[in-house]
Amino acid sequence: MKDCIFCKIVRGEIPCSKVLETERILAFNDIHPVAPVHALIVPKEHIPTFMDLPEDKMDILVEMHRAAQRIAREKGIAEKGFRVTVNVNPDGGQLIFHLHMHVFGGRKLTDAMG
Ligand code: AMP
Ligand code: ZN
Repeated sequence: MKDCIFCKIVRGEIPCSKVLETERILAFNDIHPVAPVHALIVPKEHIPTFMDLPEDKMDILVEMHRAAQRIAREKGIAEKGFRVTVNVNPDGGQLIFHLHMHVFGGRKLTDAMG
């Protein structure tokens, strides 16, 4: 997608602070972190929202969750705890319409449901 900010990051047209990369996904630090650790995991393919994932592409979610586990371990927040979030559509707080998973922690998270 030409004008999608996360597609531009995937293509290297906008810089990012890379955390992890596989053939199908990229993870980078959120530019406005809400916690000491705050990474975003995106599929390299442009999929607008969680609801746009067809059955035969659901395996990308497994890969994204695997990346979340790795990031939590590597950033040292696995034991103390962290949160994995996918915002969906405007009421869900989604601002960027390229599927992404937030992984954040490194402090006590108290704001349960926004
Ligand atoms: P959401 O509200 O779930 O769509 O989250 C979008 C997230 O993308 C926000 O937490 C932003 O801070 C983050 N973000 C926006 N632009 C960039 C960027 N260029 N690099 C890294 N993170 C970004
Ligand atoms: Zn995109």
